Amino acid sequence: MSEFPKETEVVVVGAGIAGTMTAYFLAKRGVPVVVCEKGRVAGEQSSRNWGFVRKQGRDPRELPAVIESLRIWEGLEAELGEDIGWHQGGSLYLAENDDDLAHYERWMDFAREYQLDTRLLSPDEVDAQIGGEGRIWKGGMFTASDGRAEPEKAVPAVARALQRMGGTVLTECAVRTVERAAGKVIGVVTEKGPIACRAVVCAAGAWSSLFSRNLGHGFPQLKVRASVLRTKPAPLATESNVMSSGAGFRRRQDGGYTIGRSGAAIFEIVPDALRYFRDFQPGRKSQPGMKLKFNDAFFRELVRPNKWQGDQVTAFERYRVLDPAPDMAMLGGMIRFARQNFPQLGPVEIAEAWAGMIDVTPDAIPVMSAVDGLEGYFVATGFSGHGFGIGAGVGRIMAELAMGESVCVDLHPFRLARFTDGSPIELFSKQSWRG
Ligand SMILES: Cc1cc2nc3c(=O)[nH]c(=O)nc-3n(C[C@H](O)[C@H](O)[C@H](O)COP(=O)(O)OP(=O)(O)OC[C@H]3O[C@@H](n4cnc5c(N)ncnc54)[C@H](O)[C@@H]3O)c2cc1C
Repeated sequence: MSEFPKETEVVVVGAGIAGTMTAYFLAKRGVPVVVCEKGRVAGEQSSRNWGFVRKQGRDPRELPAVIESLRIWEGLEAELGEDIGWHQGGSLYLAENDDDLAHYERWMDFAREYQLDTRLLSPDEVDAQIGGEGRIWKGGMFTASDGRAEPEKAVPAVARALQRMGGTVLTECAVRTVERAAGKVIGVVTEKGPIACRAVVCAAGAWSSLFSRNLGHGFPQLKVRASVLRTKPAPLATESNVMSSGAGFRRRQDGGYTIGRSGAAIFEIVPDALRYFRDFQPGRKSQPGMKLKFNDAFFRELVRPNKWQGDQVTAFERYRVLDPAPDMAMLGGMIRFARQNFPQLGPVEIAEAWAGMIDVTPDAIPVMSAVDGLEGYFVATGFSGHGFGIGAGVGRIMAELAMGESVCVDLHPFRLARFTDGSPIELFSKQSWRG
């Protein structure tokens, strides 16, 4: 076993897609980097998602970053020399009524502005894409250059590549806190010992606000439980990622489909919900599919300290991997919808069901930011249910930011200070939490 690193240039907290891709881009340019992961690589959201990699339907503020991300995804498999299930079969959003059509027509303005290959489809064109066996759709919106990857494969492959380039990945190694001197980062304290460093990138997913709060830099972030399933092998209906109100699906490499339902998540009421109640008001109203639940999560988080020192065992070690139970009632309704509206998928038999805790910000766009008052501390989090697709671009962006270089996209919309500088919280669309 290699020795525990005593020092490095950059420590990345969390080996999800945001952290692993950041470390990958740093390692590519020869920057010494250590990724510390409290559980396993991509154990939380980054292996549990649907695998959609899309520009379509995005909040326009994210488009420059996701365009760059798609460019990276397109070459990633060859660059890594490993199969990650990359396939560019497009995104197809189905229109069930005139409101959907109007929404897609409005989004076409952004597609034109960014010269995307997005187009609106007639009902016949939709049938030509997915077969006409099911419901008669009013039309759709389609972006042929969108793609998909297999989440369980992609991030571990990136982690292996960054290790081949000299980067270090430590699993079961929670970062407890950041050490500071004169307002600057000087290192981290992990459960296995300290590591001196010049910069820290917090890419801790649903744990980022808690981690940052201990340093005096908390921000509004909550989590919702989203459930998903994969089917047994089934006939090939389409290679596109398909989205409708009752079910969204994509073809898997194993011959089945991953199926989920956008927006149909459970929000467990926890103390942070009260802490950030006002920040999340606009988002709450736009999520009619969200179920509220009051359960033991409230008391578990209530007794959790908000402040601790590096010599104390933390929540990060107590909860190695967030592995919530799937909402089988929701999945049952979703299967009925899929059988009725997409008979071309076959009998839709469950091979496996699971859930993930999605971390969300009040405006459903991420934080990719330096932090005022703590030089050398950077945050990449809050991807609000659509961080897998943008994740490759996040790596490049955060590596540039951490190295003090000019960044390839405008990060103003993603600055952490937007939650404290009096800016209005602007939520793009009720559909912005779509995979
Ligand atoms: C069911 C579901 C479907 C989704 N579908 C899509 C989709 O189709 N397309 C899409 O683009 N996005 C999708 N998403 C969202 C996407 O998965 C996430 O936005 C993205 O994976 C977030 O990546 P991350 O690296 O920020 O966080 P995560 O993947 O959650 O990684 C954070 C990591 O940090 C670690 N960590 C936390 N605290 C510490 C600490 N103190 N020390 C060390 N390690 C720590 C955690 O253990 C975790 O491994 C979906 C999400 C879910 C749950």
